Order: sequence, then C-alpha cells, then structure tokens
Amino acid sequence: MGFPPSVTPITDVERVLCVAAHPDDIDFGYAGTVAGWVDAGIEVSYLLATRGDAGGFDNTPRDQMPVLREAEQRAAAAAVGVKDVVFLDGYGDGVLVPSIDLRRDITREIRRVQPDRIVTNSPLRRWERIAGPSHPDHLAVGEAVTCAVYPDARNAFAFPTLLSDEGLEPWVVREIWYGGGPDPDYFVDVTDAYPRKLAALEAHTTQTSHMELDARLRMMLGAMAKLAGFPEDRMAEAFSVISTA
Ligand SMILES: [Zn+2]
Repeated sequence: MGFPPSVTPITDVERVLCVAAHPDDIDFGYAGTVAGWVDAGIEVSYLLATRGDAGGFDNTPRDQMPVLREAEQRAAAAAVGVKDVVFLDGYGDGVLVPSIDLRRDITREIRRVQPDRIVTNSPLRRWERIAGPSHPDHLAVGEAVTCAVYPDARNAFAFPTLLSDEGLEPWVVREIWYGGGPDPDYFVDVTDAYPRKLAALEAHTTQTSHMELDARLRMMLGAMAKLAGFPEDRMAEAFSVISTA
C-alpha cells in the first residue's frame, strides 16, 4: 500500500523539525522548501541520525568523513538560514534500523523542539527505483520518526525518564511530510529559493564535488514542477503530507 492522498497542510505552523538519516538528505530532498519556511518566519530545526560515515567518493581517511560531513551539514543549514542542527551519537551510516533506541532519541528531540510539522524520509520503498531515495537508512528513519510521532512523543508513559529525569513534556506533532517516497502528490514551488538550495548542496563537498550539480538539480526539480502542472521553467520539491493530529 502507498500513501493516501496528501491532506491540505496546516497553516498555523511556528516550528518545523526535519529528521534525516544522512547529511545531504535534507538538502537534496527539500532545502528549497525549508528556505521558503525560514523566509516566512518559521523556526526550522534539523536532526541527523548519522554523520554519514559511509559516504564520500575518494580516498579521504575514513575517520575524517564524519567530521567533514558534520561541518558540511552545518554549512548547508546556514545557507538556508537554519541554525539548530543536532546530530545523534551511536548510529552508523548504512546500518540504521528503526530501533527502540532510535525512537527514544528522536522522541527526545521532538519534545525539545515541539514542532507543529515534521519532514522526514519516506518509510515506504519506491520499487521502481531502489537506489537513492529508498536507501535502507532512509526507510529506517522514516519508520522511526513515524513511531516517535505516534505514540512515543505524545504518550507521557513512553520512555518515562524523558519526562521524569529530563523534564520533557509529551508533544503532539500534527503533520508529517514524507520526501522520497512513492507517488508524491504535494508540490512546493522552490524556484525563488533555488540559489540557496544549490549553495546548500555545494556545501556537501564530499558528496557533490564530482557531480554536475546545477544541471542535475534543474532536471530533478523541473521534472517535479512538470508533474505538479506548474508553469514552464518553474522548479518544485515533492512530498506526501499526512495528518497526525
Ligand atoms: Zn541519504
């Protein structure tokens, strides 16, 4: 089963939390949408489950990769105006599973940030194109976030020490936007934010310096705009929007 048709997004949004498996996921997927939200005065926070230690395409010493990629993600966030960037410790790139530990750590951040909306990877695989969006780490994060939104974050008796020891009150996230999943049907015009999205992706030097980034992005985002029925020369990012209130 795929996603149901997207709901009409809520409009009274003050805070958004973006949760991703790897540095660069947010920027490839939806940094243009994030830039628009920052422009609108919405507070956006990033949570990264790993530092992308299995990434890169050259002979950079492997122990340097997570250090470089954390710095790249912080620079990419700054390029779209996001300052609150948190990395979880203890999770490896390529071996992420929707474990109880991961659910607890995501729940902690949900209760800290208190977002109205979460954006994350789709937990549903795209069978027609298993590479890229359907990386197993992405599916794992999508599943763990969904479980953290319901029931963990809103249930005071889930992970009880979050409340008793850390003072983190239960929180209801009202909406999830999934990126990279099958048949997205909600589109955001990101044409005006495109230079900032490009800058964010250029900040991920270890991942993108070998690519024809501008041409690739224009092709991807142009295809989404066409799917959305937007006018010629527009660019779009695509989602499935689910109500979780
Ligand atoms: Zn990824």
